[in-house]
Amino acid sequence: MKIDILTIFPDFFRGPLDYGIIRRAREAGLATIEVHALRAFAHDRHRTVDDRPFGGGEGMVLKPEPIFECIETLNVAPREQRLSGNAKQSVVLLSAQGRRFAQSVAEELAALDRIVLICGRYEGVDERVSEFLADRELSIGDYVLSGGELGALVIVDAVTRLLPGALGNQASAEQESFSGRVARREEGKPVSTCASGGLLDYPHYTRPAEYQGLPVPEVLVSGNHDQIRRWRRGRALEKTLRNRPELLERVALSEEDRELLAEIRQRQ
Ligand code: SAM
Repeated sequence: MKIDILTIFPDFFRGPLDYGIIRRAREAGLATIEVHALRAFAHDRHRTVDDRPFGGGEGMVLKPEPIFECIETLNVAPREQRLSGNAKQSVVLLSAQGRRFAQSVAEELAALDRIVLICGRYEGVDERVSEFLADRELSIGDYVLSGGELGALVIVDAVTRLLPGALGNQASAEQESFSGRVARREEGKPVSTCASGGLLDYPHYTRPAEYQGLPVPEVLVSGNHDQIRRWRRGRALEKTLRNRPELLERVALSEEDRELLAEIRQRQ
């Protein structure tokens, strides 16, 4: 996958792209990430990228010309092709007014060949960028950031780890919170894990088995795969019910899920 990031602060991206899974994915050639400095596309002496808003009001607005000109050099597919799905590409404007970024959107983007992320600053970006250049506006949450750079990094991270081969163990992506991916099972192999199926992940424990008098749940050291799987599913359901009950409305619950939920509700 090719990822381009447009920003007025290219140095912001020094570091975050050089660690962990993103770094490994870049080194393995799974993701090529390029950061483009928007000031290089400003033509006046001061490399101006912002201007006052038409109609008056607070602050400054990121000008359209540097963004349109930068995108022109990237040879991305025309907007109509991206919108119709005829090109496996997306030009994304980071914006607090965008559709909420979620795991399902990360999965959608990970299936593309190319994404371009436009980072806004100041009071925002000239609206013509959203209307005529980007094919989607994404928000990383209901709060206002100073710029789109952190949002772009959130998207790069969430998408990169979904690229086939990026995670050491591909099954991890299927088991994780919010994942709509279907878990693959090896025939005849006992299974002690469970996919989140769109809920939250189950809790994880590691050695030591007892730390400062705090033991790990006994079932996890029992060796009984089916009991472990059922316990994990129960804890995932319990945590979802406690922290994100709305997720339970959106997923298809199995007969076992319903039984476990009834037990949890009875205990509470
Ligand atoms: N005036 C805008 C509003 O109220 O919606 C906020 C502009 S914000 C200070 C500057 C830039 O930060 C935006 O253009 C956008 O690129 C980025 N930004 C702010 N909040 C964001 C969010 N929740 N998700 C993604 N990007 C965000």
